[in-house]
Amino acid sequence: MATRTLEARFEHLSVKEDKNNSGERTERTYGKAKGSISTAAALSGLGSSQSNSNRAQLLKLALQNTNDNKANMNVTQSPGKGSGAVVTRNTDENGDQRKSTTLYDQPSVPRELHLGMFEIGKPLGKGKFGRVYLAKERSSGFVCALKVLHKSELQQGGVQKQVRREIEIQSNLRHPNVLRLYGHFHDSKRIFLILEFAGRGELYKHLRKEHRFPEWKASMYIAQMAAALKYLHKKHVMHRDIKPENILVGIHGEIKISDFGWSVHAPNNRRQTMCGTLDYLPPEMLKPGSGDNTYSEKVDLWSLGVLTYEFLVGEAPFEDTPVMTQRRITRADMSIPAFVSPEAKDLIKRLLVLDPEKRIPLDEIQRHPWIVKHCVKDGKRSSGSKEGKP
Ligand code: ATP
Ligand code: MG
Repeated sequence: MATRTLEARFEHLSVKEDKNNSGERTERTYGKAKGSISTAAALSGLGSSQSNSNRAQLLKLALQNTNDNKANMNVTQSPGKGSGAVVTRNTDENGDQRKSTTLYDQPSVPRELHLGMFEIGKPLGKGKFGRVYLAKERSSGFVCALKVLHKSELQQGGVQKQVRREIEIQSNLRHPNVLRLYGHFHDSKRIFLILEFAGRGELYKHLRKEHRFPEWKASMYIAQMAAALKYLHKKHVMHRDIKPENILVGIHGEIKISDFGWSVHAPNNRRQTMCGTLDYLPPEMLKPGSGDNTYSEKVDLWSLGVLTYEFLVGEAPFEDTPVMTQRRITRADMSIPAFVSPEAKDLIKRLLVLDPEKRIPLDEIQRHPWIVKHCVKDGKRSSGSKEGKP
């Protein structure tokens, strides 16, 4: 990832100088980075205003957690409302643990997050509002994904609140199957999200390439989804937008739920902006007048049923014209091809139940014969997706 790439990537963007972030500081902190002087100067106006959660602790935490998923489990939010800092329970700031990981050996942790800290690499993808780049934190070598959102585009799309919500929610989640948001910062024009890098990209692409997944793989993924959803629901987060496009794959083939943009949003907003993606909508969210209080986290169970079906069959169960899809969802009108195993069929049928209260609970999914058959060996779950305990 040459520094030149970084400059090239951003040179077409006009950047407003920011008083809070002088070139002097950028150079002092990152003077060690090769060839960074011109970059530092060019970018000196980029990193700027901070929200409370953008404290050094966040990055430190991110660095600390790179190689050890278990470390993620030891994370807790500091109680002070104003600080928003994230701390680990068992980390001594000045103590011996610094020696336990090389990532701790950085000379100083910068007080604020800003663009100059990162070397920008190849583009990973483009979404409706953002571009995502591979990035490396210069002083530690920590690899992450940097998502760049343009404030003007967010405003035009009327999604600022949604993004704020997404940041709030995702930065408080720590689970091996939930994509981490390590921190964020912004300048006058853009918002930058520091995300966990999912080395194998979108699950959607894998599914399209393989057409459908073998049962063992589908069940591993569903077991991981169930573990992640159990964690989210315990934290009173409903995702509401579970689908292959919103699932990324980590370097070890483990899945990472991402896209928390709809996780606490009214279904009305959602339908206006999401026409064309009805396939995963649960029946209770299609009901006229369905407000925020008329459905529960059980919406994610329905979507999990649709996901299980799509993994195994290669297409969603209610795929049709938009009108027909809606009609078929409200009647749970689908058929499962004969090549799907009886155990998998049973799970799909217990998830795609019109009455949300009658859908199989997450605990039971983890004990379901189809999951046990493929994911539990010698009484131990082999999906590596045990629920993360905060
Ligand atoms: P939408 O705007 O509807 O959310 P999207 O999810 O595709 O669309 P982004 O979240 O901005 O948009 O991501 C764009 C693409 O970049 C993704 O589809 C994915 O291929 C890639 N990408 C995003 N985040 C990461 C990540 N953390 N690790 C690896 N690749 C990523
Ligand atoms: Mg996305």
